[in-house]
Amino acid sequence: MGHGLSCARDGDEHDFFRAAQAGDLDALEGLLAADPALARRATIYDRLTALHVAAANGCLPVVSMFLSRGVRPDVLSRSKQTPLMLAAMHGQIDCALALLAAGANILMFDSVQARTCLHHAAYNGHADCLRAILAAARTTPVTDSWGFARFVNVRDEHGATPLHLAARQGRPECVHLLLESGAIVSAPTGSYGFPGSAPLHLAARGGHMGCVRELLAWGADRVQRDSAGRIAYAVARKRGHGACAALLNPSAAEPMVWPSPLKFIGELEADARALLEAALAEANLERENKILLSLKGSSKHSPPSPSSSSSDAGAGDEDDEEGEDELCSICFEQACSIEVQDCGHQMCAGCTLALCCHSKPNPTTLTLLPPACPFCRSCISRLVVAGSKAKGPALVAGDDAEEKAAASPRLSLRRSRRSREGSSSFKGLSSAMGSLSSKIGRGSGRMAVDSDALLLDKPVLHDLP
Ligand SMILES: [Zn+2]
Ligand SMILES: [Zn+2]
Repeated sequence: MGHGLSCARDGDEHDFFRAAQAGDLDALEGLLAADPALARRATIYDRLTALHVAAANGCLPVVSMFLSRGVRPDVLSRSKQTPLMLAAMHGQIDCALALLAAGANILMFDSVQARTCLHHAAYNGHADCLRAILAAARTTPVTDSWGFARFVNVRDEHGATPLHLAARQGRPECVHLLLESGAIVSAPTGSYGFPGSAPLHLAARGGHMGCVRELLAWGADRVQRDSAGRIAYAVARKRGHGACAALLNPSAAEPMVWPSPLKFIGELEADARALLEAALAEANLERENKILLSLKGSSKHSPPSPSSSSSDAGAGDEDDEEGEDELCSICFEQACSIEVQDCGHQMCAGCTLALCCHSKPNPTTLTLLPPACPFCRSCISRLVVAGSKAKGPALVAGDDAEEKAAASPRLSLRRSRRSREGSSSFKGLSSAMGSLSSKIGRGSGRMAVDSDALLLDKPVLHDLP
């Protein structure tokens, strides 16, 4: 650990800081009994207090003891670092929590690169500390003075946000947490390392697949250029990160993007969210495997043409809840696992993503359309896991589904998909979703599942962006 001892003044002080580092509570209390002023003493060179030392080394009893004796949690070292920053830097979650509980200020900037505790947690990849700090940011006065969103995107003196640092250092879990908390995915740095770099450039530079994956799934723009005019693809190639480059190649299939509108649907129920996230990850993994496979020269498969099947929007029935309620009536591949509220329509997680979440977050305007139910066009107020009948992502065997399709006029919708090979896998779904998305993307003004029969009393909003 970097925060040990440096030149203490005399024997007692040396023992005192040594005991703080080792978490020797008895020795500390003995020394404090003899000289209470020791509690506020700092090391000569770094000006670290015993609270700093204990926090950096994860000695919770010592941290608690000092806090209970009235030592301020925000005492500063020479480089203006707080004990909380050191705990975040070294992943000492227990100490971080104790300091936060004691009211440690999360919006302090050190004098090294003007970084906050959030930067230090992200840079070093301590997701638990990052999570604790974000949780504190939702409840402390920081939210009033700065606003939570601004705090998540706080910049150091080089213009790097915590997201830039996590992407650069290859910390996918931190990248995920930050994006989920509202970090701006395409923010360019100021002068940090490589000027004008977005987090995607920095992840590409290090060849960090996990981070690239997360960033793409949150709508990072593959054609965004840094101040040297390079897109992330070029950066990855120059560095020899072939697999990363393949994913970043703007001509490779578009990744599926976590729908920014969904972030704003109240509190997305945890189970529903998990289902959607799993569907997203699976679709993107499928896509990734294809890209990487073709990278290895196995050009056996060509992506299914999105428009090869008839795209007529067939007639649908209003009564979704009756009959084959387990089978998603959009893709006919997956079980209905997500229910839209308040209308009660159901579909699978993949289709929910593809249909309710078709628009990438716009990095410049951040304008968001409220997501609408693809069946009735009513505003989605909430997504929940479909009723107890839902069996998760159970797949329906081809023949079985064929029979069902024959039995129901509703299921005859887009039956041609049925004949695709490899019905056992997600492949079908992801290409179906690709097809749907591309339809929507073309702005045909008519979504595949729209039909007059599906309309309730709401007007259809045509011409999606
Ligand atoms: Zn579906
Ligand atoms: Zn609906």
